[in-house]
Amino acid sequence: MVRAIGLRFLEGDVWAVRRVRHSQLRRQESLARLAMLGSLAALWRAHEQVSPASAHMSTSFALLDTPQVPMLGMVLVVSLTCLCLVYVRASKCAAWTTPDEPSTKTRLNEIKADRSSPSFRSLPSGGGKEEDVATSNADRLFLSGGVGMQRVPPRLSPAAGQSIIIIGAGTAGAAAAVGLAERGFKVLLFERDMSLQDRIVGELLQPGGVRALERLGLDECAKEGIDSVHVDGYVVFTPPQHKKEGGEKVQSILLKYPAYDPATLKELFGVIDPSPSSPAADCPTLSLSPPRFSEKEGDKLVHGAGRAVTPPFPEGTKVTPAPNPPSSPCGHLSMPPSPSFPSAARQGPTSLHPQGRSFHNGRFVQRLRARALAEPNVTVVNGIVSRLLYAEPDSPTSRVIGVEYKIGTGRRVRNADGEEVEEKEVRRAMAPLTLVADGLWSSLRTHVDKAAKPTQLSSFVGLILSHPPMASPLPHPHCGHVVLADPSPVLLYQISSTETRVLVDIFGRMPSASTGDLAHYLSTHIQPQLPPVLQAPFAAAVARGEFKSMPNRSMPAANVDRDGVLMVGDALNMRHPLTGGGMTVALRDVEALCYLLETSTDLGNPAAMRVLKGRFARERKAWAATINVLANALHAVFSTPAGNPTRKDLRDACFDYLSVGGYCAGGPINLLSGLTPRPSILALHFFLVAFHGVRKYLWPVPSWGGLGRTYEMLQVACEIIMPLLSVEKSTVLAAWPVRALVGLIFPYGR
Ligand SMILES: Cc1cc2nc3c(=O)[nH]c(=O)nc-3n(C[C@H](O)[C@H](O)[C@H](O)COP(=O)(O)OP(=O)(O)OC[C@H]3O[C@@H](n4cnc5c(N)ncnc54)[C@H](O)[C@@H]3O)c2cc1C
Repeated sequence: MVRAIGLRFLEGDVWAVRRVRHSQLRRQESLARLAMLGSLAALWRAHEQVSPASAHMSTSFALLDTPQVPMLGMVLVVSLTCLCLVYVRASKCAAWTTPDEPSTKTRLNEIKADRSSPSFRSLPSGGGKEEDVATSNADRLFLSGGVGMQRVPPRLSPAAGQSIIIIGAGTAGAAAAVGLAERGFKVLLFERDMSLQDRIVGELLQPGGVRALERLGLDECAKEGIDSVHVDGYVVFTPPQHKKEGGEKVQSILLKYPAYDPATLKELFGVIDPSPSSPAADCPTLSLSPPRFSEKEGDKLVHGAGRAVTPPFPEGTKVTPAPNPPSSPCGHLSMPPSPSFPSAARQGPTSLHPQGRSFHNGRFVQRLRARALAEPNVTVVNGIVSRLLYAEPDSPTSRVIGVEYKIGTGRRVRNADGEEVEEKEVRRAMAPLTLVADGLWSSLRTHVDKAAKPTQLSSFVGLILSHPPMASPLPHPHCGHVVLADPSPVLLYQISSTETRVLVDIFGRMPSASTGDLAHYLSTHIQPQLPPVLQAPFAAAVARGEFKSMPNRSMPAANVDRDGVLMVGDALNMRHPLTGGGMTVALRDVEALCYLLETSTDLGNPAAMRVLKGRFARERKAWAATINVLANALHAVFSTPAGNPTRKDLRDACFDYLSVGGYCAGGPINLLSGLTPRPSILALHFFLVAFHGVRKYLWPVPSWGGLGRTYEMLQVACEIIMPLLSVEKSTVLAAWPVRALVGLIFPYGR
């Protein structure tokens, strides 16, 4: 229980305490207990002596009159606090229940040895022997903070055989169908359109999402047969007219994903030693093509670990061009994805360090659907769910008992406009649990939570740069590219051997594509801000005019208080897609849900399901909060509304901070990769960026003007981050006294 309280208290936002030894914790606990009991006994004695002597006063006043009592009170409070801290630390230290637990140092050495072993069998990270840590997979996963690379094999749930309805076979729905079917549930998966989709969403999966796929046993869906590309990090291009302090011109920063999954506090914060024996040093990540952004153009690359890298790739690297993919990649599910797709997994380095993956979202989802179809426990219904069914139709809090859906009968009929369409039939399906995963445009989320309302932050316009196989014009292949353009950023990454995606963020009103305003805006305003090497391919893509646009929406996690229903993916929670974190959150949610449902005994038991829902909300908080806050905050920092010089200064400060390297680069890229579920570390880096920015106002001698700018910068920083943190309720900064204090000094809510 104590561990549960501690976990709840710390939820997703703690300093890792893996370095704390078991014996140290025991000693600290005994000391704190002794002090507490001693002070309690002394207080009781004082109370006994005081009460009869001071009948005219209330006992408490009389007690306060006694000189030793305030001191004893303080000792009591301090010892109680110490005891709580010890329990809190113990809650994160899986070694607590195992007296013969090896020290964390030993454990880390084991992990390092494990990492460097070619077979890389398991990583029950979190400090405990697998069998000691907990009884269920769910506990194993969550006590370890979900960090680990090996699949925890699914177990048959005690509720196996019970039915679950899943609405939507997108990333979340299809993955959940496989995960739940493997645990013995009978899954009825509804999808309105099973054909291959061509969308600009969900094209880059961060390493955190790849790890979740690995643990779900679905990683081959992102790696094999869809012409996907591995991603090793990000390159950030300088803001326009930006000069680093001292006049040195840094044009781009290369931020590589960490060499291995961060586990200790030092690693989570971003300090990862690039030791010669580490996988990063053994295994060059960007090995397929040489850089195209030559040194002559003044490019200076700063490695994530703080080393300047010129050139970033090993000399004499061999470029292996991939064959052309077939023109029609993966069609309807009746036609499985062509095995002739080149597998970037096989071409790229077979490293064990974290990598992301980029691909056509439609192809990836088709692979997930194919996996779901292959499960004997999954029935896919090609129909549109129109509403949820309630046990008592008139009650707003009534339990969900199933869905009503429309399905084609195969007969052709004429509609009201005289067009020939397929006749639809309305049917019903019932199950003790319904999982809503109908995505960004969810029409069912308001049936679950009326208050759930997305906010539109901006829009993305998507274009494709076509190129010969493995000859992307990107200066750094296998990296996401972020160009800090005015007024908002441009994203580029390769999504197949012959295509590179460009996403241009557009603030406010979108110029019309039909009148040519959009093409004009892109070629006159955006194109000149791109690195020279990308301008000609970008102009060609604009000239082709095949634009696709999507709104970038954000929504805090909805409340799923209704019985009989759960939500995952974009239906539940959304954030700006700048950092490509949506699928990572969705897949981690699916993972958490699968492990939790693995231990459920009866899906129809409302009390047990409410407990499960509460646990799900808590388990997902740290991951989701980190990715949500990072995405929305980074979009705000990288967007510079006209007439706001402080916002520009903050963006420049962010670029300068990243270019410092070391933990200044390693920390943010860890967070972006979805491998660091620590909102507090995110908040820390965010404020370090702001402090980095104010140095120039205060250095060498602070002036009144400089102090004024400093205040403005800190206020802008608070304006951006504080509302995001308080919505997520996940760090101490979200606690109301802290918010009130910060709001008093920097009134950010204006
Ligand atoms: C512009 C943009 C770019 C993005 N880029 C990235 C990125 O690079 N990386 C990343 O990780 N995330 C990205 N995201 C977010 C990511 O796309 C989503 O988080 C992810 O797709 C969510 O998956 P989902 O399964 O919840 O929804 P979807 O993948 O949208 O799936 C929902 C499914 O439900 C079906 N459906 C809907 N309603 C019904 C109904 N009534 N009946 C039956 N079926 C129904 C739909 O047909 C669909 O197949 C981006 C988002 C946007 C907007």
